[in-house]
Amino acid sequence: MQTFLIKDSTLVPMVRSHEFFKADLLIVNGRIHSIGHQLKAPKEAIEIDATDCLTLPGFIQGHIHLVQSLLRHQADDLELLDWLKERTWPYEACLDSEDVHAAAQLGIAELLLGGTTTICDYGTTHSHEAVFKAVADMGIRYIGGKTMMNQGELVPKRLLESTENSLRETYDLGKKWHRHKDLISYAVTPRFAVSCSSDLMKQAAQIARENNWYLQTHSNENKSEIELVRKMTGLSNIDFLESVGFCGEDTILAHCVHVTESELSSLKKNKTRICHCPGSNLKLASGIADIPRFLDEGLRVLLGADGAPCNNRLSVFHEMTLTATLHKVKFGPQAMSAWKTLSLVTREGAEALRLDSEIGTLEVGKKADIVIMKRNSVSLYPSGDPASQIVYGAHPQDVNHVFIDGIPQVMDGELLSNSLHEILKEAERSWNHVEMRMKKR
Ligand SMILES: [Zn+2]
Repeated sequence: MQTFLIKDSTLVPMVRSHEFFKADLLIVNGRIHSIGHQLKAPKEAIEIDATDCLTLPGFIQGHIHLVQSLLRHQADDLELLDWLKERTWPYEACLDSEDVHAAAQLGIAELLLGGTTTICDYGTTHSHEAVFKAVADMGIRYIGGKTMMNQGELVPKRLLESTENSLRETYDLGKKWHRHKDLISYAVTPRFAVSCSSDLMKQAAQIARENNWYLQTHSNENKSEIELVRKMTGLSNIDFLESVGFCGEDTILAHCVHVTESELSSLKKNKTRICHCPGSNLKLASGIADIPRFLDEGLRVLLGADGAPCNNRLSVFHEMTLTATLHKVKFGPQAMSAWKTLSLVTREGAEALRLDSEIGTLEVGKKADIVIMKRNSVSLYPSGDPASQIVYGAHPQDVNHVFIDGIPQVMDGELLSNSLHEILKEAERSWNHVEMRMKKR
């Protein structure tokens, strides 16, 4: 493995708020070897001049749908259930494994170029090998799995699975890909209570626990979905999830926009993780989750861009700006500071995923998941507090270099593993095929 010396940067280690200082950082064997002034590097070290740059831990997003990337700009102005039935499910039903690969590559390219180094991701019900191949190829840190669905009104036949097949495929994928290159962790991923029977949910939770894999699903996203779950199960979303063995430190629930007091107590009791997706929640008119309240109650919260067709970008900067601004309306101007917001996509995000011994801060011994940002965009002038700059003023284009596990994946704003030009061409070609198939349905 190559050795890198990042010279003269302003380090924002995210070990504690308001801490930043000028220093060098040395990467050896994929880990942060040392941090200090005028570090001596071995002869073979590649030196990166980072004067006037900010160096941070790689950003973590807790809820993404790589597979939906080709449907970007094709599903606007709909509420959740219509968005699923009219656009997203028909789209997923028309994907073949080449399309899934093209969509995953497009999503990963956008995430890496924008400084996101770890994601929790949902596939569709089929062809998930293609996502893992793109992930392994492009080197993003990945927690995710195929989506599971065995029931639901207006679910296209192609997406409906038998309980047995859904569980077997999940098990086989997890056994094959969990811990691949130490970058991939499997997450058992039933889509949501509406499209999964309680039997499937129960067995899904069991498989996750037996293998020490993550569990993730959508919950309490919008009022119609909550009503539907109550009609189908007689329970609230969180009560239902608890009844089938979900919830706990290993479970990440996306959204939790509308949560009752008793659901909140149950989330707290079980230490269930929440992923806040403000961009998606606003665009689908789902509502605004009470994140400052959740944090006050001690819940672990991640941020996520969700999918390209419901956002329509996978920018961690967009989600940070929304998180830091949106909640001020209800909770006051100090509800979500820039430093607090930045910690959700770094240190606290890593803690939520129980990966904080390896990633989430810049500390000696940790894995070198690192983002180096330029400070020459107009909106970053004049220089000031780095968290304020990043949360309120920065864009994905300000990301210059990205390391994951000490391997450079973006250098000088260019993707290294694949040609971006080819990825974009493939995405366009795949979308044309998928659109044709969708029209024929
Ligand atoms: Zn989602």
